[in-house]
Amino acid sequence: MKHDNNSSTTLKIDGMHCASCQRPIEKALRETAGVKEVSVNLANREVSIESSVGSDVLVAAVAGAGFEAVVDTIQSLEESDRVSQQKFNGLIRKTILALGFGALLMAYGMYAPVTGSDWNPAHFAWLLIALITAAIMYYTGRHYFSGAFQSLKTRTATMDTLIALGTGMAWLYSTIIVLFPALVPEVARHVYFEAAVIIIGMVNLGQALEQRARGRTSQAIRRLLDLQQKTACVVRDGEELDIPIGAVVKGDMVRVKPGEQIAVDGIVMQGQTNIDESMLTGEPLPVTKGPGDEVSAGTLNKAGSVVFRATRVGADTALARIIKLVRQAQNSKPPIGRLADNIAAVFVPVVMLIALFAGLVWFNVGPEPSAVYAVVTAVTVLIIACPCALGLATPMSVMVGIGKAAEAGVLIRNGEALQTASQLSTMVLDKTGTITSGRPEVVEIDALGDQTLNSLLQLAASLEAVSEHPLAQAFMDAAALKELELSAVDSFEAIAGRGISGRIGNAQLLLGNKKLMQENDIPLESGPLQASDRMAGKARTPVFLASDGQLLAVFAIADPIKPESAAAIRRLHADGLKVVMLTGDNRHTAEAVARQVGIDEVRAEVLPEDKKNQVAELQHKGERVGMVGDGINDAPALAMANVGFAIGTGTDVAIESADITLMRGSLHGVADAIDISRATMRNIRQNLLGAFIYNSAGIPIAAGALYPLTGMLLNPIIAGTAMAFSSVTVVSNANRLRFFRFADKP
Ligand code: ADP
Ligand code: MG
Repeated sequence: MKHDNNSSTTLKIDGMHCASCQRPIEKALRETAGVKEVSVNLANREVSIESSVGSDVLVAAVAGAGFEAVVDTIQSLEESDRVSQQKFNGLIRKTILALGFGALLMAYGMYAPVTGSDWNPAHFAWLLIALITAAIMYYTGRHYFSGAFQSLKTRTATMDTLIALGTGMAWLYSTIIVLFPALVPEVARHVYFEAAVIIIGMVNLGQALEQRARGRTSQAIRRLLDLQQKTACVVRDGEELDIPIGAVVKGDMVRVKPGEQIAVDGIVMQGQTNIDESMLTGEPLPVTKGPGDEVSAGTLNKAGSVVFRATRVGADTALARIIKLVRQAQNSKPPIGRLADNIAAVFVPVVMLIALFAGLVWFNVGPEPSAVYAVVTAVTVLIIACPCALGLATPMSVMVGIGKAAEAGVLIRNGEALQTASQLSTMVLDKTGTITSGRPEVVEIDALGDQTLNSLLQLAASLEAVSEHPLAQAFMDAAALKELELSAVDSFEAIAGRGISGRIGNAQLLLGNKKLMQENDIPLESGPLQASDRMAGKARTPVFLASDGQLLAVFAIADPIKPESAAAIRRLHADGLKVVMLTGDNRHTAEAVARQVGIDEVRAEVLPEDKKNQVAELQHKGERVGMVGDGINDAPALAMANVGFAIGTGTDVAIESADITLMRGSLHGVADAIDISRATMRNIRQNLLGAFIYNSAGIPIAAGALYPLTGMLLNPIIAGTAMAFSSVTVVSNANRLRFFRFADKP
């Protein structure tokens, strides 16, 4: 639980793109009074802060460190949309300019090649062209040169380095030819100004298309953001006011009219209504809500009008937390992506060496004019080898895949969970609340003495009133239905995995499973034992009630199996997974449930503290284990599993703790998670393979490996085009994931 006066703020910080600018920002924020926690995400240039101070204070602290921060809100997303559109437009403008000028130059070069060495007007024209080219290169490709310069300062080399080096070399060589034509023989006086600008144009085009694709990928987020309201109607001092959502504070009374969206999280105080929660839980049927029920921001009020008390506002609503989680996950990398990054990091310097080597070979043993061949091959290698596609391969797919999963109500915490989920071999399912609905009911009472059924139920319910076990609710509901008055309980004790004990009046009572009775030496005769076996055979849980060493009754508790559990388990089988059920319940009951849904292996009567060991044991056998549970009772087992799936009941889910959170209660979410993670990983591998093949085939061709066969070298312009095209291919392939279909949806 979060401390009351703390809230979380997300700042977007422009210009923070390296570890060295991250440090002063972090420091400034940490030293601000009231700041609890600071976490920086370089990928999307965001800083998340837990603090008790307003966002203006935080922005000021960042400003003190010399950076400009913007509070990340809905407005700023629209803002970032605008910025992204602007960036796209700018890149396209520069692309057109560079390609247009390049085409003109190409035509002019054919019409008036650099020939003579005397400084006639035509030659002066080339000098002018050299200068204009430099200006256009600077205008359209400044970011590559400044990026290359930045990384030079930290003694690293990036893709910018390759582009800057390649185009810079082409320009420099051409300018030298123009200035000192006598250096090379007349036939060799070819200049590459047009290549330099066209390459920059092509790379810009690739980046523009990538920018466009990135913008579109946040559709999943956008859909969630659209659920957020701009204003809310609050009742303060008996007056109704429409105020901006940011001004709603905890404890405010909020009125919702029919057809309106809920603005913040809260608890209904007055009125009754039906609420459509499908956007958060995927549950298609509206849920009836009355006083005491929770409502969540973003859900839609259908018919009635209610007043609710705000319990969570701003960044703390379930909706805001979901949005934040998905955005963070979309920016995280699975291990395979880090591998690609490491390859890309050594790739660039290696390519520079290859370019240098190729140039030297052509210069020394190549045909005349060897200087030209040397420059052309070096430039072409630098340009074609640019590992843009390699760098894009993983993040693009992760972004689309995790977004797609979120649309289906599956929240994948990060790239690592995504990758591991795709590799699972065994799925362990908790029974209660996972396979079954988790809403148990007392369906039968087998009385052994002469007490009335109502008085037996009254005793059991009185004991359970203090218990937090899911079974307790069944007794409470049954007693409430019969309007029974409950008695006070003394020395209540919950006995994990067994049941409960307590005193009512002078009677010492026990309520729980057979193990509890046996351990307390309660004689069990064949009658009640048969009754309990018969109940278990019908997938019901038998619960024994004993008083002062005497068995009084056996209750049958039915927890209906969720209608879609069997179909979802069939999907898991189709995915090649082994499905294991893990439960503390009676073996016969568990086996009856297992038969109905097609479970492969049952591990019943497992004590709560042993669930974790059961998972560990499967792992020792070499299985990669996923575990699905309710996230509260099963937390240690979920943490032990390779991937923990927390199954959400409604919107009150511990989304920050599980690897994967299923917002709908359905097991189909588990199969959906497996399917989308496999599709995403397949997509990433296709991308990486494609990028790798492109680069490894491109480099030798660019270096002139085909020259002995064809007598031709690759044109640097073609290399630039191929490079841009490889990025576009990766981006398009990742976008194919957008059309992924989940098997349980039409
Ligand atoms: P699970 O969460 O897998 O259902 P638990 O370890 O919580 O398993 O419980 C195991 C068994 O212990 C239950 O199936 C039930 O028979 C008995 N039990 C535990 N707590 C209670 C309780 N409060 N009332 C009745 N029976 C209980
Ligand atoms: Mg449980």
